[in-house]
Amino acid sequence: MSAPRLEIDLDKIHHNARMLVELLAGRGIAVTGVTKAALGSPEIAGALLRAGVSALGDSRIENIEAMRRAHVPASMILIRSPMPSQADRVVAHADVSFNTELDVIRRLSSAAREARRTHGIVLMVELGDLREGIMPGDLDATVRETLRLPNIALRGIGTNLACRSGVSPGAGNMSQLTALAESIEATFGLSLEIVSGGNSANLDWASSGADTGRINDLRLGESILLGRETLNRRPIDGLYTDAMTLVAEVIESKVKPSLPWGDIAQTAFGEEPPAIDRGDVTQTILAIGRQDTDAAGLRPPPGIEILGASSDHLVTDSGRCRLTAGAEIRFQLDYSALLRSMTSPFVAKVLKGQSGQIPEAAVLPTTDRFRPIAASRAWRRSSRSS
Ligand SMILES: *Cc1c(COP(=O)(O)O)cnc(C)c1O
Repeated sequence: MSAPRLEIDLDKIHHNARMLVELLAGRGIAVTGVTKAALGSPEIAGALLRAGVSALGDSRIENIEAMRRAHVPASMILIRSPMPSQADRVVAHADVSFNTELDVIRRLSSAAREARRTHGIVLMVELGDLREGIMPGDLDATVRETLRLPNIALRGIGTNLACRSGVSPGAGNMSQLTALAESIEATFGLSLEIVSGGNSANLDWASSGADTGRINDLRLGESILLGRETLNRRPIDGLYTDAMTLVAEVIESKVKPSLPWGDIAQTAFGEEPPAIDRGDVTQTILAIGRQDTDAAGLRPPPGIEILGASSDHLVTDSGRCRLTAGAEIRFQLDYSALLRSMTSPFVAKVLKGQSGQIPEAAVLPTTDRFRPIAASRAWRRSSRSS
């Protein structure tokens, strides 16, 4: 089978999603399944929906469009503030978008009016992580203005923590979000359908028994796909951490010195050249590099150590493992490595599980790997042919 390839186990993804949906249901919280690392795959979306997620959230309109084309039956939320230049597409394909700028909401309003649709808005509030969000003191004014706009429905508020600055969700910021929701409801005499407390980093807070207040939604991506919470990246009990794995192929394996020789200047990517002498090593090169993934986010099997990566070569010390050209090595990934391999046109995506074992048929043909929308057709074709 072709390499490098991402092997995607739909049964494990389904299991992880189901466990989290059930855990949070007990706390009155619904799960929005975040698909931004799924590149619009209707199979992955389907695994999340069968597990009971209430909606799908994606940061890219292209992925939402791909899922729409594949007739994924779900409410779709654009979880990044829309680009004004994409307002028409957002209104046409997303039911709801996350917003922080009135200018953008006005653009969405006119696009929605033209399309004779109603577009839902979740206003994002800044609670300290310093990424997107309206400052709490400006929220009332933004709500007032949003409520005036035609073809726009205010569906709720939300916040995002633990991304840019690693601010942990906890009793403090979560009760502040509840208080903001209650104050909007009282001031404007309305009821907010969605109060979205955050992402996978909120799981510790949500399972701690803390009062969840008005928070009734979490947006989960990494915890579903990789089975880890994201404050300390610990595996979550009962979840698979290997639902998605990356397989790469050996193209050279030789015993070589660990230190380079000759005049030493910069390396291809401006990093420090190898400086520790560990004597001779079994240096094994895999045909995968920075064009395919984030090498720093790969976890090799025991006995193999990653020494460095250039655009197309991953250099490892394979210790006592005797590997020959053509051998395959399987890696676990972190979210950065997962995003990069999912979006790399050079990495084939192979689906397993649910619709049955689909070996060769599910490998995307090379020409279809370059755009999510094209990719989505290939995904569909592969599932049909299985
Ligand atoms: C990516 C993203 C999420 C999901 O985060 P995970 O850590 O993968 O659960 C949630 N909300 C927003 C706004 C995002 O961009």
